[in-house]
Parts: sequence; structure tokens; C-alpha cells
Amino acid sequence: MRAVDLIRKKRDSGELSREEINFLVSGYTRGEIPDYQIAAWLMAVWIRGMNRSELAALTEAMLHSGEVLNHSEIPGKKVDKHSTGGIGDKTSLVLAPIVAAGGLTVPMISGRGLGHTGGTLDKLEAIPGFNVNLSLEEFRRVLRECGMGLIGQTAEIAPADKKIYALRDVTSTVENIGLICASIMSKKLAEGIDALVLDVKTGSGAFMKKEEDSVRLAEVMVETGKRMGKKVVALITDMDQPLGRMAGHSNEVAESIEVLKGRGPTDLRDLSLDLSAWMFYLGDRTKSVEEGRRLAETMIATGQALEKFRQGIRLQGGDERVIDEPERLPTARLHFHVASSSSGFITGTNCEQFGIALAMLGGGFITIATPNLPKRRAALRRVTTSAKKLREKSDCSYGAFLGLKRKRIEDREDCAWNDLQVYWVWPQCWGWRMSSPRIANPSA
Ligand code: URA
Repeated sequence: MRAVDLIRKKRDSGELSREEINFLVSGYTRGEIPDYQIAAWLMAVWIRGMNRSELAALTEAMLHSGEVLNHSEIPGKKVDKHSTGGIGDKTSLVLAPIVAAGGLTVPMISGRGLGHTGGTLDKLEAIPGFNVNLSLEEFRRVLRECGMGLIGQTAEIAPADKKIYALRDVTSTVENIGLICASIMSKKLAEGIDALVLDVKTGSGAFMKKEEDSVRLAEVMVETGKRMGKKVVALITDMDQPLGRMAGHSNEVAESIEVLKGRGPTDLRDLSLDLSAWMFYLGDRTKSVEEGRRLAETMIATGQALEKFRQGIRLQGGDERVIDEPERLPTARLHFHVASSSSGFITGTNCEQFGIALAMLGGGFITIATPNLPKRRAALRRVTTSAKKLREKSDCSYGAFLGLKRKRIEDREDCAWNDLQVYWVWPQCWGWRMSSPRIANPSA
């Protein structure tokens, strides 16, 4: 078999067999097929799509590119949540401690930023010392001790996704239902979980901009999970504007801590509680989602979730003092206020541009070889809280707060500034639109 023939077959709208997909995935994972051929194949898939059997074959090939974990020695149910990606989406940092404090085990394998969206691993690495590269043995020890562990893919867990994910990020092949489904489900099914809650984003800041596409994505992921014997539910949630008020790694950790302290923005708190509620329910910890929600609220109100986060940070080598002193999180050296250039009302945001501006400030990858993460300190803070009239051009009560710590500041400053000019839509009227999440295909 030759990769070039399979690329041509997909380019010409052909259907690849299971063996052909296995050949590509295993060859790439072993380093026998180069990036450029897989990049070409990904683009062909992006354009031509995959049918259900190709999607199943790809998910399974990626899943079996590494080990499928078995945590049966850890008592109780293991549950996880995965989001399809958004801006300011930091719910994993809030709900993992809530659910672990409530008695379930959360073995979370996360990704880095992808496209214009942020990654849980990058956010965690803003905590000084936090190690997302635990060995599997260390991961199990942490899970046994505190019920939650957050790591990245290792060479053992879905290594094919790790490589393909990085390649998609820089070749504009992210926004595809089949590729997203295979990526998410291969690593989640490798985690050794009993149940999974999917947060499928929809809107201008999501990979799926149209609700019907988000529903299709939710359906294929739920179907894939069920076929593999897992309980899976997908919530379709709003990503027409950033979640919470902060985007950027350190800021998002700080905002998550706020929510765990019973404060923080309502949209972030509500979504984290809803997702936790489903996790409790699917993990048989509660008899209903409503009861799960009450349990999640109790975990915050009693401070148990916050203490769980502290313990989790400590066990993964992080500086737990960030809980009480968030100023210990790295901050940007330079700050800019971006004020409105006219008066009026804001009716919407081009949310994707938030993510792109943030990536250009240093919060994302431009090529696979972009220097690594600890240097990336970009931050973007939205100051507005709700629909708000802009008074004067010079009024800084509304604006975005930008920060960056980069040598080549001039270019990035320009890019970000220009992007910020375009993503506000006005003069119109804007307000929070955090509708209740829709539920696609509950399989519980
Ligand atoms: N999250 C993932 O893990 N993979 C995708 O393709 C998109 C979001």
C-alpha cells in the first residue's frame, strides 16, 4: 500500500477501507509516513468528508494506536467531560474538582489549544510547576489519592491523535465533524472511563458555527461512544461569545478559582454546574440530573471542591498557593486598554476573532514548532459584564484588556489591535445569551 494512492483515492471522493485507514494512522504514528502526506490526506478528508464506516475505522485506529487504560483497581465510577473547544472555556478546571470532591473519579486526558480555541493543558501549565506529563503510573497514583488527574496524551494514550491534532492545528483542517469526532472519542475512549459528558459548542467562536452542525457532531460522538459500550450525553452550548470574562491561560485559572470559591461569572458557574450534574448522574452518583446539580452546588458551597483543586495541584507538582494568591500566576508584562472607537451598544461578538487575537498575542501555535508553552502569557480580559451602553469614545469602562510578554511585540500589538477593531459589532445592542444547554441524544 502507498500513502500517495490513498490520498488520491480520498481526493477523488473514494471510500477508504478499514485496512487503508489503519495503514495511514499506524504508519504516521510510527513515523513512517511524513507530515506532508498526512496533511494532504487530512485536507482531502476535510473537503470530501468520511462516511460512518470510515469514521468508525479512523476512531478505532486512533484509539488503538496506544493503550486503552484500565482503572478497575480504583473503586467507583470513572467519568469525564470533553468540550469541542471554545474561547474562555475553562469548565474542566472547575468541574474536575467538583466531581472528584463529590465522590467520582475523573481521569481527564486533555489537549492543547487547537485553532482559535484554548487548551486545558496550556491553562494548567500556567500554574507554576504543574506537570501535565505524568507517567501512567503517576497518573494512577494521583487518581487513587485525590480522584482527579489532568494530563496530556502520553506516548501510550492515543498517540495518533496527539500527532494528527498538532498537524490539523496548523493546516486548517480542524473544523470537520469526522476529524473532531475521531480525535475526541479516540482519546476519551482510551481513558478507561464508564461515562462521558460532551460539551458541544455552537456559534461564532466554535468549530461548528451552525447549530445543526453541532447537533450532527454531537450525534456522531454519542453514537461512537455507545457503540463502544459507554454512557455518553452531549450538551449543545453557546459559544457566540467567550465563556466567563477571561480568556488567556493565567486569567482562566484565576477565574476558575473564583468560581470554586463561590464567586465568578454566572455563565461559567452555571455551565460548570450543569456539566458536573450530568457527570454525577451518568456516574450513578445521583438518581437525577437535578440531584447532581444540587450536589455540585454543595461541593462549591462547602469549599470541598476548592480543597480538591488545591490537592490536585499539589499532587501534580503545582504551586497550590495560587489558590489563595492568584497573583502568583504569571502575568503579562505589558497591558493595553482597547477603548471603544465610537459610542453605541454591542449586539454581538465575532467570538472566533477573540481566539485569533489571543493566539496572535502568543497564546496559540502558528507552526508545530512554535516555541513551547511557558513563554505564552497572552491574556485577554473582557471588562464588560452585560449589555452596556458605550458612552464616550474615550470611555475605558468598556474595552478589552490585553497583555503580552513577547519580544516581537510590535507585530503582535498591531495584529491584535486590528483584530480587536473588527470583532465588535456595533452600534447595536448586546447582552449575555447563555441559554440553557440543549441535550442531544442522552444515552443514559
Ligand atoms: N477537541 C479535540 O480534542 N479534538 C478536536 O478535534 C477538537 C476539539
